[in-house]
Amino acid sequence: MRMIIRKYLEVFCLVKFNTLLVRGGKPDDNHTGAVNVPIYNSSTFRYPKLGAPVRWDYERSGNPTRDNVENVCAELEDGDRGFAFSSGMAAIHAALSLFKPGDHIIIGDNIYGGTFRLVNDFLKPRGIKFTAVDTQNVNAVENAFTPATKAVYFEPITNPLLKVSSVQEISKVAHEHDALVIVDNTFLTPYLQRPLDLGADLVLHSATKYLGGHSDIMAGIIVTKGQQLCDQVYNLQNSIGAVLAPQEANLLRRGIQTLNIRMDRHLANAKKIIKYLEANDKVARVYYPTVDKNSRDYRIMKREANGAGGVLSFELKDGLDAAKFVNSLKLIILAVSLGAAESLIEVPAFMSHFEIPKPRRLEMGIKDELIRLSVGLEDVDDLIADLDQAFAKI
Ligand SMILES: *Cc1c(COP(=O)(O)O)cnc(C)c1O
Repeated sequence: MRMIIRKYLEVFCLVKFNTLLVRGGKPDDNHTGAVNVPIYNSSTFRYPKLGAPVRWDYERSGNPTRDNVENVCAELEDGDRGFAFSSGMAAIHAALSLFKPGDHIIIGDNIYGGTFRLVNDFLKPRGIKFTAVDTQNVNAVENAFTPATKAVYFEPITNPLLKVSSVQEISKVAHEHDALVIVDNTFLTPYLQRPLDLGADLVLHSATKYLGGHSDIMAGIIVTKGQQLCDQVYNLQNSIGAVLAPQEANLLRRGIQTLNIRMDRHLANAKKIIKYLEANDKVARVYYPTVDKNSRDYRIMKREANGAGGVLSFELKDGLDAAKFVNSLKLIILAVSLGAAESLIEVPAFMSHFEIPKPRRLEMGIKDELIRLSVGLEDVDDLIADLDQAFAKI
């Protein structure tokens, strides 16, 4: 089976991350001089003769445009092989399909809502067991292991409260129990954190968010290390079949090329908005890992990541109307999702986390007054002016 990976790393062993973003992948498969990999709209590929070995035969099993973006992602995450799916959930479904009835998986208690739905409505009825724990607490993770535990699955930075869990510490504990570590790296991206280098075995993304970066595609990514796991995920991708189409693979490639400059701007804009919110007397609290520099979250973030990303949350003071606030915004768009060029704002209790019963939501710290902002690439003064005029209305 094919294993073309770390192409650039092998050729130029000193190539740095920012160069890989722009120049990674790129199979030498055309003779036109085109600097980009073509969009191969071909679901099937010719055999030169019966029984001849072919590099590609059928699109679900592999397509050169998809292969290219898969290779880029493998290089960026410092893994051995990448896999592109039709959505983040398709990637998560494939990753969790590594397990069988009777297996036990420890999951973060604050993971993406769609992942919870997949776990509760689809995987549990099929005999896979799950225990949800607060992964910030490594002892709680350790105590949740049973002889049947096969994996720990978590998000190193949670949504919407931006709590930080240590990939290094959890990987150490998990490997002592021979369990796999699966990390959803959607919020930080490999530009800010590379979980495989910190000990994880499988990293995945909703590439719909920062990797795509432009609110114009849905995509999912898995990157793995080690021949056995790579082969297993390849078989699942090919068997389940929720692969990324060539047009979307090309848009993902294009989005990834500017991840560094986008993320730098997301970070810079977020920093200024946090400063503005912290000084605002209508804001009860700002949630972002750098807000409390004495916290364990901050120390872990400093040690394991190069920044905390472009999503932040804030809570209005009691009695202030979150609906009126978001409805008053003129520039910032009221919408779920994140990681886009446009600033997107939402009220988790009424949008992204609406499905969670209110008592549980409050237990998790998600009040009705909590607002999540995915800071975009607009001029930050315009963003602050928009927030300011909406604050004036409540
Ligand atoms: C959006 C998201 C997903 C799901 O990805 P889709 O592309 O929407 O299927 C999974 N994890 C996280 C952290 C997300 O934000």
